[in-house]
Amino acid sequence: MPELPEVQTVVSDLNEKIKGDTIVDFWSGWPKAIKGKSLALFTKEIAERKILGARRIGKNIFIDLSGGKTLYLHLKMTGHLLVKVQNPKSKAEDYFADRVNQYIRHSWTLKTKNHKLKTIEFSDMRKFAKIVLDDTDRIAQLPEIEALGVDAMDPEFTWQKFDEILDKKKNAPIGILLMDQSLIAGIGNIYRSEILFEAGILPTRKAADIAREERKKLFRSIGKILRKAVKLRGTSDSDYRDTSGAPGGYQKVLQVYRKAGEKCQRCDTIIKRAVLGQRSVFYCPDCQK
Ligand SMILES: [Zn+2]
Repeated sequence: MPELPEVQTVVSDLNEKIKGDTIVDFWSGWPKAIKGKSLALFTKEIAERKILGARRIGKNIFIDLSGGKTLYLHLKMTGHLLVKVQNPKSKAEDYFADRVNQYIRHSWTLKTKNHKLKTIEFSDMRKFAKIVLDDTDRIAQLPEIEALGVDAMDPEFTWQKFDEILDKKKNAPIGILLMDQSLIAGIGNIYRSEILFEAGILPTRKAADIAREERKKLFRSIGKILRKAVKLRGTSDSDYRDTSGAPGGYQKVLQVYRKAGEKCQRCDTIIKRAVLGQRSVFYCPDCQK
C-alpha cells in the first residue's frame, strides 16, 4: 500500500501538473469506488470545477476544488493516478504502457487555461481505492479523517508529541504503534521496518521499555527515512507508480523490508521476518535490540 512518501510524491506531482485546470468530464468503469453518491450526481457535481491544489494527511489525498468542494481519494492497496496530456511531444510517457498502469477504473478529463485537454486516470488493479466528493469542511469531519493522528511529516509531529504517544501506549509493541494511523498518520508496513532498522530497535519492543535516548533516536529515524523516501519518490516494490507511471527509487535502498534470508548490509547477520499486526515485519536480529 502507498505510504506517506508515495502519497506525498503524488500530491507534489498533482500540484505541479493540474493546479489551475478545470474538470470537464468524468468516467468510471467501477462506480462502487465512489462513496456517498451516485455516479450521475458525482459527475454532475464535479463538472466545471477548477482545481485549486492538492494536499494530504497521512495516506489520504485531498484535491480542493472551486466552489468549496474537495475530492478525497484513498489509493488503498494498488491505486495510483496517471496524469496524461493530449499529444505528448516527448517519449517520457512510455511508462504508461507498463502492465501495472493498465487497470484504469476512473478518468477525469481536464481543460487547461489554453484549452488543451489532459486526463487524470486512476489505475487500481485490486479495486479497493476510494473516491469521495463533498464540501471541504464535511470531508474534514468524515469519521476516518477525524480519527487520524498527527501526520508524520507535519511540523506538529514534534519529539514531545512522539514521547507522549509512546507514554500513552505503553504496552503496544513499537512495530504496531508506528503503523497505527490514529496515533501517527502516514507510516505503513514498508517504512516501519526501515525506520526500526535505522533506529536499531526490535519491532516487538514495548513502548514503555524504550528508553529516552532510544526514543530520541527513533524519532530522528522517522524523519530521516521519510525525508529520504520522499526525495527518492517512494518505494515501488509492487504496484505503486508516480503520476508519470514511473516507479519510485527507494526500493533500491531498502535495508530490511522484504529481505528475509539475505545478509544485513551492516553486519552480515541473516535478516529475519516476523508477523506483527497481521503484516510482515523485517529486522536484523543483531543490529536491532
Ligand atoms: Zn545487522
